[in-house]
Amino acid sequence: MEFEHKISVLGSTGSIGTQTLAIAREYRGIGIEAMSANSNIELLEKQAREFRPQIVCVTNENKAKDLKIKLADTAVKVVSGKKGLNEAAVAGGAETVVTAVVGISGLEPTIEAIKAKKNIALANKETLVTGGHIVMRLARENEVQILPVDSEHSAIFQSLQGCSDRREIKNIFLTASGGPFFGKQRDDLKNITPAEALKHPNWNMGAKVTIDSSTLVNKGLEVIEAKWLFGTENIKVLIHRQSVVHSMVEFVDNGIIAQLGAPDMRLPIQYALTYPIRLPMKNNRLDFSKYSALTFEEPDVDTFYALRLAYNALKEGGIKPTLFNGADEAAVDLFMQGKLSYLGISEAIDKAMTSVKNVENPSVEDIFAADKAAREIVYNL
Ligand code: NDP
Ligand code: MG
Repeated sequence: MEFEHKISVLGSTGSIGTQTLAIAREYRGIGIEAMSANSNIELLEKQAREFRPQIVCVTNENKAKDLKIKLADTAVKVVSGKKGLNEAAVAGGAETVVTAVVGISGLEPTIEAIKAKKNIALANKETLVTGGHIVMRLARENEVQILPVDSEHSAIFQSLQGCSDRREIKNIFLTASGGPFFGKQRDDLKNITPAEALKHPNWNMGAKVTIDSSTLVNKGLEVIEAKWLFGTENIKVLIHRQSVVHSMVEFVDNGIIAQLGAPDMRLPIQYALTYPIRLPMKNNRLDFSKYSALTFEEPDVDTFYALRLAYNALKEGGIKPTLFNGADEAAVDLFMQGKLSYLGISEAIDKAMTSVKNVENPSVEDIFAADKAAREIVYNL
């Protein structure tokens, strides 16, 4: 099928980034204008030679120098650092920017891309968690679309096609697999190692989001992400072990619309790139004969209490969601290095959220200051 679209992929070497490029490989009409990595220049070089973007960014300065030498025989411009990432985000020609970097590093380039009138295929949920009020306002002012890549939010977005008045939404059911430790009590989680937390039952994702899925921090971030995308705080999390129903919308007439499919990120990525068109997808259809039941239950927010903290952050607003996210980024880093216990992750988030006074309607500077404060608290624990 013919399809023409120019995109940039920030975080092209990651889990979402490589799957995005696989779609571009399938649909040759999808051209790549810019790409970025943090340090994996071996893969970024291969990607640059295959897709020939105008510009690539490596945020790690030394690695950027190495890549510049490697790509000297091509016309690809190599830039570096945060400034370089902002430059890649606004590269001319791209109609849509896929934000697939990890963490709060996604916020600034997303803001820059919106100001340059690019649509955003948003994977980086931390952008909306920390700066949702700014990003959504800028998107409206610049008349660009924020198209969700996160599977749950894509499911909600798909379920909302045909709904022209957001006041018709009564409730959003955000589904969660429950992660590898579903059914466990706090005591069972004391000695969890990074290797155990990295084994996700249904999804194959980057390390940070996989750890976050096991603690339900990821679901907490997604609740806040959903608030900004869909303009409601009526959001309920349902544990759905099979990861077949990707999320649902309940309307004021009690009707519920859900989106179902195999657990496969390619569909939400592709839909964000091709919306409102749907293109064929190879393999991985949902096989109903493999499921004798689809189950739903309430999350255990006593054991996985980071989810409760996320709801507090949602309610309090201001910089609280940034504190929640920044503390988690630092805590996951320490946990991966074996310097913090598994249960220490939610304790660190709690500590950071209660130690810093809230700031209403924070500016980008306030957000980065809060992020820094949260990290400092956690690294000093
Ligand atoms: P990965 O860890 O697989 O990839 C992250 C990408 O960002 C890589 O290209 C990495 O480069 C780059 N990167 C890492 N650190 C920085 C930094 N400080 N500054 C700039 N770039 C950086 O992550 P995922 O693809 O799993 O996730 C990306 C985003 O998408 C996250 O926000 C996640 O929550 C979200 N998401 C992911 C899903 C998934 O299925 N993976 C599902 C839904 C949402 P390098 O390779 O050089 O390290
Ligand atoms: Mg998700």
